[in-house]
Amino acid sequence: MSNFDLIVIGGGPGGYVAAIKGAQLGLNTAIIEKDRFGGTCLNRGCIPTKAMLHAADLYREILEGGRFGIHAEKVTVNYGEVLDYKQETIDKLVSGVEQLLKANGVTVLKGTGTLLADRQVKVTFAEPAEDGATESYYDAEHIILAGGSYPAKLPVEGMELEGVLTSDGLFALKEIPESLTIIGGGVIGVEFAEVFSALGCKVTILEALPKLLANLDKEISQNLKMILKKRGVDIHTGASLAKIEKDPAGGLICHYTEKDKDQSRSSQHVLCAVGRKPNAAGLFLDPEEFADIAENSAALTTKHLEAAAQTAHDLGITMERGFIETDVYGQTGAPGIYAIGDIVKGIQLAHVASAQGITAAEKIAGHTPNVDLAIVPSCIYTSPEIASVGITEEDAKASATPVKVGKYITSANGKSLISKEERGFVKIIAHADTGEILGAQMMCARATDMIGEMATAIANKLTPSQLLKGMRAHPTYNEAVGEALEELEGGAIHMAPKKKK
Ligand code: NAD
Repeated sequence: MSNFDLIVIGGGPGGYVAAIKGAQLGLNTAIIEKDRFGGTCLNRGCIPTKAMLHAADLYREILEGGRFGIHAEKVTVNYGEVLDYKQETIDKLVSGVEQLLKANGVTVLKGTGTLLADRQVKVTFAEPAEDGATESYYDAEHIILAGGSYPAKLPVEGMELEGVLTSDGLFALKEIPESLTIIGGGVIGVEFAEVFSALGCKVTILEALPKLLANLDKEISQNLKMILKKRGVDIHTGASLAKIEKDPAGGLICHYTEKDKDQSRSSQHVLCAVGRKPNAAGLFLDPEEFADIAENSAALTTKHLEAAAQTAHDLGITMERGFIETDVYGQTGAPGIYAIGDIVKGIQLAHVASAQGITAAEKIAGHTPNVDLAIVPSCIYTSPEIASVGITEEDAKASATPVKVGKYITSANGKSLISKEERGFVKIIAHADTGEILGAQMMCARATDMIGEMATAIANKLTPSQLLKGMRAHPTYNEAVGEALEELEGGAIHMAPKKKK
């Protein structure tokens, strides 16, 4: 008989959610985690970044308080206290996860889990057990792999230099850098640019593609570039990093090519924010045999990846460029073995991992999974916030889908005027014939909260008139969503009608 119905390896937002759901659905569940629960999201990603953004935005708002007749003097930043506040927030959430696992009767195994044949897992304990054991073996009817990811580094000369950081290293700094060059104008790049520029650091972004946040609506990228520039961020798009070297005057020099010209930029630190790599290989490599990567996934070499892919293959699991292949429920090629989150090919986001975790647990417990994994809201916590779900106007054009677009500029929204928001917008895209909502993009206050309604609308194939059945409260930012929907239905109320051609 198996020790457990379900063993989850990895306690990030994918793994711990899967374990809780599994236990709730009656599965005798265990979870293996070598570090703190919450994974990247709680410890080194979403939560700490948003805490720092909150502190940085608060500081900027206090300095700009004169716009509201509020004048503060001698406002200072104590970075140590900002870091303490960030850590307290993390600690509360991590301990909340631990309590929830316990309350749901999930067995917690602290150590590194390695997948073996016949649905067996070896756990190399983080600390010797009471009887002195350093490892143990467990088997389960089902196993969910949820190893997460780690920050990628570019194969560029100088990446190993002291002062070249990934997001993990940036969180560990005890002082605000004087200057920072960020390689990559994706989500991590723009969020950290906002944090550190608000705190007085001279920030430069070098983005290889022609625009920031390349996958998002063109207008969002353009607006964000303008806003960040206004806040003092030096932005270079179409700028590809060539190498980094030590600056004899102190700090580092980034050499890059922009419009075919060689350029360079000196700064105290460099942040490499060019995506994340799957931490799947570690699940197949015995930590005793591969001690060099046990603590540091970034040390993975081709040799490790090949060894892991071979072991995975022998178990019936396909890996491609470090990612595990699964079906829509997370089932790998090996019966009973599932994979979720950042180790699976697809969008690497905490809420995707959680939704995949719930789906896999429901499938294992014999329930019909409910969430539509194809509809993924994406949020960026700059000020104003940015959020997107479903298709953009550009996507519709590329796929020749007939659409109509309802767009509302938030400068006429009462709540946005009260809080003197930057110029923003809500754009909703509906099928031209059926009226079904297919996508939405927002750049405005509370966009990250309001996008949920649009995800629900798309997942349930709702139309603007169905969404307009429910009244929106006044004054709220949410009225801008109502106006964009009205625009799709023939005309927003608080916007001059388009001139007839
Ligand atoms: P990303 O993929 O969003 O952006 C990386 C950027 O680096 C791209 O724009 C790319 O063009 C650029 N780049 C690549 N090589 C370059 C080079 N040689 N020179 C200059 N630019 C180069 O990745 P990220 O920002 O590192 O984020 C990593 C992951 O974390 C993502 O999967 C993201 O979804 C997740 N994340 C999400 C949030 C959020 O949801 N708010 C926040 C942070 C991170």
